Amino acid sequence: MSSIDTAARAHLFNAGSLGRYRDVLARGVDRVARRVGAADRPFTGVTPEALAPVVGAIDLDRPLGDTDAALDELHDVWLRDAVYFHHPRYLAHLNCPVVIPALLGEAVLSAVNSSLDTWDQSVGATLMERRLIEWTAGRIGLGATADGVFTSGGTQSNLQAMLLAREEAYRRVVGGAAARPARPEVLARLRVVTSAAGHFSVQKAAKLLGLSADAVLTVPTDADRRMRTDELARTIDRCRRDGQVVMAVVATAGTTDFGTIDPLPEIADICTAAGVWMHVDAAYGCGLLVSPTRRHLLDGIERAASVTVDYHKSFFQPVSSSALLVRDGRVLRHATWHADYLNPARAVEQGIPNQVDKSIQTTRRFDACKLWLTLRIMGPDAVGALFDQVVDLAAEAWRLFDADPRFEVAAPSQLSTVVFRHLPPGADPNLVDEANLHAREALAASGAALVAGTKVDGAHWLKLTLLNPETTVDDIAHVRDLIADHAAWYARTAATAELSCPVG
Ligand SMILES: *Cc1c(COP(=O)(O)O)cnc(C)c1O
Repeated sequence: MSSIDTAARAHLFNAGSLGRYRDVLARGVDRVARRVGAADRPFTGVTPEALAPVVGAIDLDRPLGDTDAALDELHDVWLRDAVYFHHPRYLAHLNCPVVIPALLGEAVLSAVNSSLDTWDQSVGATLMERRLIEWTAGRIGLGATADGVFTSGGTQSNLQAMLLAREEAYRRVVGGAAARPARPEVLARLRVVTSAAGHFSVQKAAKLLGLSADAVLTVPTDADRRMRTDELARTIDRCRRDGQVVMAVVATAGTTDFGTIDPLPEIADICTAAGVWMHVDAAYGCGLLVSPTRRHLLDGIERAASVTVDYHKSFFQPVSSSALLVRDGRVLRHATWHADYLNPARAVEQGIPNQVDKSIQTTRRFDACKLWLTLRIMGPDAVGALFDQVVDLAAEAWRLFDADPRFEVAAPSQLSTVVFRHLPPGADPNLVDEANLHAREALAASGAALVAGTKVDGAHWLKLTLLNPETTVDDIAHVRDLIADHAAWYARTAATAELSCPVG
């Protein structure tokens, strides 16, 4: 064996390299710990222009050969300027700080590297994932026939839900037709109904599933940003009159912007009466499943045909960790394909549990390991308590903005977002949008805090997504004042610039 062969083999993880394994991983852990310990802001404010040349200059064909040198380089290209979600002034998107039991799970699962497609690549891991699916379905209340599978995220969970709903709708249409219609003809008539505040992954799923460009119908929301059920009923009636087939209603349990929960019991009634598949997108609101005080906010979810949960949003899990749950496990067969080399039909007869039969992925991470260790070390009540704390915090933050004459605030969240904009008395209406956009950018550039932005009825608003129980009301008050200063500065400067800039 040549010396390069020997050197290459030394990097393989096996019984002969355990010293290196322990040492290298410990160095990585130490780097992260040092960086997190030093992070006095959630972000350094680095720009793509500054960082791209540093990343671009690295010659990927010339290895550094040395772990510490590679970690130094990693620091320069990433760790130094990364956005730190554990920081109490990270208030932007649906990124949670992660719990240590899940980090332990992440380290273990990637070393063992089980693949959840077949039993013969996973063994106990498959049974553990199945128990967690059962446990989640039990928390939802889906009943004895429920099943599901872990996925890479809410987008994939929603896509698979729409795939299953499409196939069930297709079967119904074809089953009831006198002459068998062509498949494209049926697909063109399928519709999905969601609210105007639903997630865009529903539109993407419709596109991927070959539905028509106008397949997703969005019904308006009420003043609280929840789906209007009278409009839902009207939309379903109109589809029926127009010869269209509503293949699914997607209710959102925790809208991404407003943290509001669609009226699930009423939507379930409408879906039952119309014989329509009800999907609940609880990517955000799933944390309520373990909330010691707020589980009732999800009442009605138990009547869904399918449910999306994102453990990587409100269960404090590292990305990726999500699942799709279905009331009737048999519908998962629409994701089944038997390959001779992997999961022959014979395996089903032999009772071999192959999760690939239920998934749209083949090789698949054992993400369930993270949730398993979280439940076994912390327990569900502790996870729910963390989520409860951020929901309480959001209510306080909402009152803070509502009481402040410099700000206008949107309907209060049922979860943990706060949507607001800087709108002081006498503000120039032409500058309000720009001032708010500027405030968000200036804040990010300083790195002092990160907030998100969105549009409300066509105007630019700002948004806090609170998922960190360590964030305090003082943090929020401080960030609020920074935003007010940035926005006021912009309005003042722009007004002066207009005055001093002669027209014509
Ligand atoms: C985040 C989100 C999704 C998408 O989930 P990913 O895990 O980011 O793919 C879907 N629906 C809702 C309501 C979300 O908030």
